[in-house]
Amino acid sequence: MSYTAWFECFNAECKERYELTDVIYNCRSCGSLLQVSHDYDKIKETSGGHWMRLFDDRKRHNIWPYGSGVWKMKEWVCPAVDNDNIVSMYEGESNLFLAERLGKKIGVPDLWIKLCGNSHTGSFKDLGMTVLVSMVKQIISEGKDIRAVACASTGDTSAALAAYCAAAGIQSIVFLPKDKVSPEQLIQPIANGALVLALDTDFDGCMKIVQEVTKDNTIYLANSKNSLRIEGQKTVSLEIAQQFDWEVPDVVVIPGGNLGNVSAIGKGFLLLEKVGIISKRPRIVCAQAESANPLYLYYKTGYKDYKPIRARPTHASAIQIGDPVSLEKAVSILKEFDGIVEQASEQELADACAMGDNTGMYTCPHTGVALAALFKLVERGDVRRDERVVVVSTAHGLKFSNFKLGYHKGSISNIKNRFANMPIELPASADAVQRAIDKKLSENRSG
Ligand SMILES: *Cc1c(COP(=O)(O)O)cnc(C)c1O
Ligand SMILES: [Zn+2]
Repeated sequence: MSYTAWFECFNAECKERYELTDVIYNCRSCGSLLQVSHDYDKIKETSGGHWMRLFDDRKRHNIWPYGSGVWKMKEWVCPAVDNDNIVSMYEGESNLFLAERLGKKIGVPDLWIKLCGNSHTGSFKDLGMTVLVSMVKQIISEGKDIRAVACASTGDTSAALAAYCAAAGIQSIVFLPKDKVSPEQLIQPIANGALVLALDTDFDGCMKIVQEVTKDNTIYLANSKNSLRIEGQKTVSLEIAQQFDWEVPDVVVIPGGNLGNVSAIGKGFLLLEKVGIISKRPRIVCAQAESANPLYLYYKTGYKDYKPIRARPTHASAIQIGDPVSLEKAVSILKEFDGIVEQASEQELADACAMGDNTGMYTCPHTGVALAALFKLVERGDVRRDERVVVVSTAHGLKFSNFKLGYHKGSISNIKNRFANMPIELPASADAVQRAIDKKLSENRSG
């Protein structure tokens, strides 16, 4: 039972290896990104059928730590951590639901939403953070001096880091761009006892500073440049396959900012293919906000000419990133998955959120970006009517109340509230109430 994993340089000409317990984020020989690699021959000694049965079985029970959607697949994710050092909130196992009404409306009836925001801190970031913080606990238990774990964040990473560190009794430090995260996102690390540093810059500026600070190896870096997080996040695609009884959809749409998640989802599907569980790859669509679209622009040049940009403000604040850390990994995945990059304007993402919500979802703006991109692809015929589509919803709408209320109120500048549904203020009179109800119900009938 000796499954092993290590950091491996992402540069195919180098491939230098390092221990997962090393405090290291870039290759010491060539400076490239690292990725976690596994002993795939060892994994393949067990048949795909056996793995499927094992994961299905663990899902039905609740034995520590396998009740977590991430740790259920521990051998494929991070075998090196002792179960006693795992810091888990039983993340993952999020619902995949059939968005029947929205799907019919836009012309892809087999439309599913993977609700990764239904999680402890309300975003998919929990999936990666459980792996990273568990590994830190493992490293500390082996005698290394780690004083704190730090990240730069557009909001959700810091919420996840703060919660997992609080559960583990480890100090977290979060760097936020001042006044650029939602109140809900700001209160999360505050409540969880993080040292919260609000800097007068944007995400890319915070990222530079946290990289300086973590040159001190006793402060561990938790950004997605640290590829341990990708291992947890890749369980999204493993779980989607499991939820379809180990089959893959035709198309997966994901919003992308720093681009760790796109690479993670591709990595998960590639692993299923290696083990022989799937034989077909879905198309992967990465959706960006028009205000923060460096990957989209790069894609449009046929991946020939990359330029980092200065990201402009977007309501999809978690993807307001101009120079994505995981660019190379994401491009490599998109090439292998017949990938498409599409973008959405602020108006398009806001309308897509409202349309989704009106059919029972409660979308965050990033999910709105993914939905809006999908609408365009369907219209263009790049996604066909008979295809099975999964949209990865990355956060819970409850983290973005100001945005959602602002839309309905019509108080967001430059955004029209086409689908507004505001409260009707009335005197306390049964007559007035009756008239308002009659009016609404007759509108529904005629419309
Ligand atoms: C982090 C985040 C993203 C972007 O993920 P990347 O891996 O940075 O591309 C999208 N949506 C939400 C809600 C996020 O928190
Ligand atoms: Zn290298």
